[in-house]
Amino acid sequence: MNKKLAKKDLNWAELGFQYLRTDFRYSCSFINGEWQPSTMLQDENLVVHEGAPALHYAQQCFEGMKAQTAEDGSILLFRPELNYERMNQAAARLLMPEIPALMFLDAIESTVQANYAWIPPYGTGASLYIRPMLIGVGENLGLQPARRYDFRVFVSPVGPYYSGAGLGVINLAVSNLDRAAPRGTGSFKIGANYAGGLMATRMAKDLGASEALYLDAAEGRFIDEAGSANIIISMKDGTLVSPASHAILPGITRRSLMTIAEVQLGLNTEQRPVELRTEFESFDEMGACGTAAVLSPVGQIWYDRAWHNVYKDGQTVGPVMQKLYDTLVGIQKGELEDTFGWLHEVSI
Ligand SMILES: *Cc1c(COP(=O)(O)O)cnc(C)c1O
Repeated sequence: MNKKLAKKDLNWAELGFQYLRTDFRYSCSFINGEWQPSTMLQDENLVVHEGAPALHYAQQCFEGMKAQTAEDGSILLFRPELNYERMNQAAARLLMPEIPALMFLDAIESTVQANYAWIPPYGTGASLYIRPMLIGVGENLGLQPARRYDFRVFVSPVGPYYSGAGLGVINLAVSNLDRAAPRGTGSFKIGANYAGGLMATRMAKDLGASEALYLDAAEGRFIDEAGSANIIISMKDGTLVSPASHAILPGITRRSLMTIAEVQLGLNTEQRPVELRTEFESFDEMGACGTAAVLSPVGQIWYDRAWHNVYKDGQTVGPVMQKLYDTLVGIQKGELEDTFGWLHEVSI
């Protein structure tokens, strides 16, 4: 396979966050207690048994990561070892087999390499989204773990997650539905957490928001996170706070932004419960962050039947979110020095 093929003729700058079929996907099956030899497939369809636990009982987990093209043409992954760790935490929580570290990285790298022509070029604002997934397959009607598993990795070139965004401001609407119970599965990237949120997102969109904002399920007081992104808040006293909660997804973007804030921007950072209604007046800037969303400043929040402005002077992007965004994206694209050793180059 010649990986130095020309790039696809796509309008890279116009891409949204959508599935676009690429040429190859990695597949590896776990049968009789062992991982079988992997294959690179062209068929994007999976054939699974109608009794597969992934279909009935959501025995499945997934990851989301991105590959970016640097100015010199090298292909960069961002902290892939953290996706590997998190995927295996989810697998363990759902009694699914562990994916060995080398197998995970090989799967990611070979899928990116095989789809070289689909990796958005430098300077287009687009990137290659990578979706690893592990699903329980095989026949199983009773409620018990699957006996067979498929690990698959596919990729799709993507643009901004929230339409209109580069650093576009988004609005969030507090949902009266809960996302995850305090001792439930909210901290794992598993399909079971998301189907229940579809309605919350629909309701948020009906209100004119981009996404739902969830409060803690126990009391409905503290900020958990948005439907697919974590929250960070720059307080008026200059501290960058991110909500502490057992029910939120431990985001790699959030962790990285907190580190950048502390080490490179010299800000105080805190992870603690944030009570929405009593603390809102102390918010200076707010952002929703994740691999897909990158960092989107939050302009307004809907709660208690009204819109509340985060930015008191209308919808702008504040200096803290701007600086965090520029630094994170600069590192991810290889434009700024990778002082934390976060980048992983994929050989082509
Ligand atoms: C994936 C995800 C995030 C962001 O995690 P990253 O590792 O930063 O991509 C945040 N919240 C939810 C619910 C998610 O699914």
